[in-house]
Parts: sequence; C-alpha cells; structure tokens
Amino acid sequence: MSLPRMRGTRLRQQLAELRGPDVPAKALDARALAALAANPGCRRRAILDGAGVDKAALASALGSPSAFGQSQFALTRGNAFEARVKADGGAELLRLVHTALDPGAEPPHRAAVPDLSAIGPEGRTARTALALREATAARGTWTLLDHPLLALEVAGSPAFLEPDAVVVHPDGKWTVVEIKSFPMLDGSADAAKVGAAARQAAVYVLALEDVARRLGAEPDGHAPDDAPAARVRHRVLLVCPKDFSNHATASAVDVRKQRAVTARQLTRLTRIQDIADTLPEGTCFAPGLPAADLTDAVESVPATYAPECLAACELAFHCRQHARGAGAVTTLGRPVRAELGALTTVDAVLSAARGESGDPDDPAVAALRRAARLRAEALGQEAPGAEVMAACR
Ligand code: SF4
Repeated sequence: MSLPRMRGTRLRQQLAELRGPDVPAKALDARALAALAANPGCRRRAILDGAGVDKAALASALGSPSAFGQSQFALTRGNAFEARVKADGGAELLRLVHTALDPGAEPPHRAAVPDLSAIGPEGRTARTALALREATAARGTWTLLDHPLLALEVAGSPAFLEPDAVVVHPDGKWTVVEIKSFPMLDGSADAAKVGAAARQAAVYVLALEDVARRLGAEPDGHAPDDAPAARVRHRVLLVCPKDFSNHATASAVDVRKQRAVTARQLTRLTRIQDIADTLPEGTCFAPGLPAADLTDAVESVPATYAPECLAACELAFHCRQHARGAGAVTTLGRPVRAELGALTTVDAVLSAARGESGDPDDPAVAALRRAARLRAEALGQEAPGAEVMAACR
C-alpha cells in the first residue's frame, strides 16, 4: 500500500474512533463549510466537522443544547417549494435561469435531466463529473443536474457537497442554483439570508471549479479554453417564493467576493490529521458518553470562540460558557480581541491597566493605562482602583 493511502486509512480510523463505535458520520454540507471557513482558527470545529461528529447532538449531551439550525417546519416548507420549482423536468427553474442569467441563449424548451444516482458518495461524485462532462460536450442544449454531488478537499479530507441544482448552459458554462424558502418581496430579500445563501453557493462554485479543472486535465476532457475553471459562472441563481406566494422568483447573485474569501480561509485551516495527532489517546465525542467525559474531550481541543459563533455553530453556548469562565477576551468580540494583542484574559487586561503587569512599551498596555488614568481623572479619583476597573468587565 502506498504511503498516502496508508495515511488516508489511518486518518479514517482515527476519525471513526473520535466519533465513537457505530456512530455514523454526519456529512459536511456547504452551510457548515461556509461557517467553518468563517472561523478558520478554530481547531475544535475543524476536527469535529472533519470527523463527522453531529455537533447538535454533542451540544445537547454536554448540557448546552444549540439554538442553531433550521426548524422541521422550515425544512418541510423548503422541500415542498423546491419540488414545485423542479416539477416538469425543471421547466420553471430553467426558465428562471434563462431569464435572469442567459437571456441571449436559446430558450430552454427542452432540457436533459441526467440520472445521477450511484452507490456511495464516491460513486455519486464520479457520476456527477461524467454528467457535467457529457453536458459540456453537447453544446447547444440545456442540462439540469438535480442534486449533483461534489467533492471538495477540506483540511486534507474530502467533504461531499450537494447543491440544489447545477445548470449547464448551451455555451457549456455551469451555474449553481440555490433554492430557498425565505420570501423575496418586491425583488429583494432579507440581506442576512441572501448573504448566507451567497456564502453557501460560493462553496459550491469552488467545488465545481475543482471538477472543471480535473475534467480539463483529462486528455479528452473537452476543456473549452486554457482555464477550465472559468466555465463555472460566478453569478449564481437564488430562487425564492415571490411575495409569500407559492410562485417562484429569482435573482442573480454575484458571489466573486464570497468565493475569494472562502477559498482563502479554507487554505488557512489546519490539517485534520495534524489536529487528530495532538489529541490524547482515547479521545471520543460519542454523544452517549457521560457529560463530564465529553467536556474533557471537547476541552482537549483548542477553540477560538467569538460572538459570531452564536449564529454559525451548534457548540456556541458550550464554548461561550467556557470562554467566559476562563475570562477570555474573545467573548468581547474579534475587534476588541485584536486591539488587546498579547492580553488574552480580562484579568490580564485589568492588571495591565492598573500598572500591576504588562510591558509599558506594548501599545495595548500603554493605551489601557492612558484610558484608566483619564477615567480616574474624570471621576475625580487619584489612581485607577480595582472597583473602578471592575466596572469595565
Ligand atoms: S462555537 Fe466553539 S467549536 Fe464552534 S466555531 Fe465557535 S469556538 Fe469553534
């Protein structure tokens, strides 16, 4: 067996042990990947996602259930809307793609909808790549790929991603389609939800570019030009219900910025193998274990909590509680954390401000002392006292 294959097998075994015996792996979806890329310094999230740990179940077992994720009602409503949009061979969906993104092309009166079923994620990604290859070669026709499966290497391990749809245009270009159940009112939707959908779509764009590069590298890969990844459009289609009705409407969303940010962040992730190698022997995140054991296991991996985690990670309440308990300045937000430099705890900050510790040449320490002096003067005090500084907590 070759060295890379042996390493891959060892990593898979390590990750299975981290999940626990008989605990199935939870697939890493684009939503999770976009959130992971938003906090690339968090080793805890990287190893849990890399191992396929169900973080919502883990958070509940730790006694800090998450308030994060979609409700069952929202999921059901979203699935029903998606089925309606894709009915009749995707006629409505293709009409929206044609109108919003490619009005100069031949209207999609007829389109191919290839069968993408195959055994296992590797089989499905191979089937998707083959369908993309054939659709790109068959110039002049529209092709709808319904729930294709794409693979993207994340921190040295493959993640399998399933966009709602990918459309191949008559010119051979590919478009990602995101179907959401939040409404578009008078042509615009909630900016935060559109932003989240754009970040998710950007992950699919990156994965598609990877497929395009691999197909372009094949001798008969039908690459349309010298840059195969250029066949992936950076304007995606966001499809939503129109004004709370059952009718669909769509808007083109430019994801170039989100794509660039996500690509950069993903390269900053520490390799899963490197994190796994640092964990104590016997570390396991199986939700059936006692809460104390799970707490030890979770706390054995360093985390970089930030208030943004509350909107993006199932473990946010657990990590916030422990970060507060340790007096970590990360709970005050990333901008404050960045200003404080080497001072990582609230106690260290207060001590530096009182002049009890810290390097006076450190700009953060100097600024804290100046601020403490000004505050004491404003309050008519001679020197910053502990009770004054405690008010800063
Ligand atoms: S909530 Fe915890 S595990 Fe999740 S990203 Fe934040 S720090 Fe990392």
